[in-house]
Amino acid sequence: MDPESCPDCGGTGYLAKPVDIGGKSQGVAFIRVKCPACGGSGRKRATPPNPAG
Ligand SMILES: [Zn+2]
Repeated sequence: MDPESCPDCGGTGYLAKPVDIGGKSQGVAFIRVKCPACGGSGRKRATPPNPAG
């Protein structure tokens, strides 16, 4: 994996989340949501991680 890529989304900038349709297991779809870690850029943040959290 590219070290420059966001480890959360793998560099795609989006995450696939399963959603239940009507609450039944027969209808499961995947929606793409913008990766909160990189904000949809797919790249690591320019700022280094804060050790204090
Ligand atoms: Zn990301």
